Amino acid sequence: MKAFDYVRPASVDAAIRAKGASGAAFIGGGTNLLDLMKSHIEQPATIVDINGLGLDTIESLPGSGLRIGSAARNSDMAAHIDVRARYPLLVEAIVAGASQQLRNMATAGGNLMQRTRCHYFVDPAFGRCNKRLPGSGCAALTGEQRQHAIFGASDRCIATNPSDMNVALAALDATIRAQGPRGERSIPIADFHRLPGGRPELDSTLADDELIVSIDLPANRFAGSSHYLKIRDRASYAFALVSVAAALDVDNGVVTEARIAIGGVAPKPWRATTVEQRLVGQRLDRQSVREASLIAVEGARSFPGNAFKLALVPEAIERAVRVAGGLS
Ligand code: SF4
Repeated sequence: MKAFDYVRPASVDAAIRAKGASGAAFIGGGTNLLDLMKSHIEQPATIVDINGLGLDTIESLPGSGLRIGSAARNSDMAAHIDVRARYPLLVEAIVAGASQQLRNMATAGGNLMQRTRCHYFVDPAFGRCNKRLPGSGCAALTGEQRQHAIFGASDRCIATNPSDMNVALAALDATIRAQGPRGERSIPIADFHRLPGGRPELDSTLADDELIVSIDLPANRFAGSSHYLKIRDRASYAFALVSVAAALDVDNGVVTEARIAIGGVAPKPWRATTVEQRLVGQRLDRQSVREASLIAVEGARSFPGNAFKLALVPEAIERAVRVAGGLS
């Protein structure tokens, strides 16, 4: 690991000033950053520690929403009484991720900023990776593609976002609050992660000098009818091949609102909006769920190594929606 300076600022403003210096990086739990530093993929000159700044709180918002501080630990989120009661979908997604030890360290903000686990990105022995070495090419286009995208990719990069939490946040329409030298702004989760296009080295729309301060969750009526389903190569400590965050609001047997987000299939959590639209207004039964799920992969672009996702995605959505809706 390359030598670096470590600073522990006393306030959010001081942290943002420290980060403003070129080559600095914020650190919360460090569960992703330190791995990347050991591999020389990230080489910050300065580490700015954001622990101890009061960003680890979880508090109710007016109107029954919830504000989760960016330094809140994943395990604390999953155990929090209000998160469990009002956003069980988020709890399921968090618990599906990593190991208990990692969840004890990993933070909400760090989870949002997780970098891809594409093999060619995380192993610097591979020379072709546009995300790590812009302009070098994409080894995955002709290589290992099992974990890779069928939606939203470009001819420069087909990597997926690895986070489980982000998939649930997409279904819950979370808003990211960021603070920087120009003040504070709110970024809808749908606009937070970028598609690669011609700049796959950029994962998000967060400016280099901005700090995530919280994640806001709006009130909803999904607590009794949601489910996070994760399909992976082994039962624990593995990233999703496909995951689904499903949430429903059902009135007299008819779907009045549906949220379906998919993980493991795109560079960002992917909302299956056509499936959502097909479900709304339908009587919730096995046939309507099956028919809606089948349209999920319209417009998908697969590769030889991940074409199995074209069949797996509709199956996963169908199962997740059925569990969310209490169908057998
Ligand atoms: Fe790199 Fe993206 Fe290609 Fe993976 S898919 S090798 S991260 S450019």
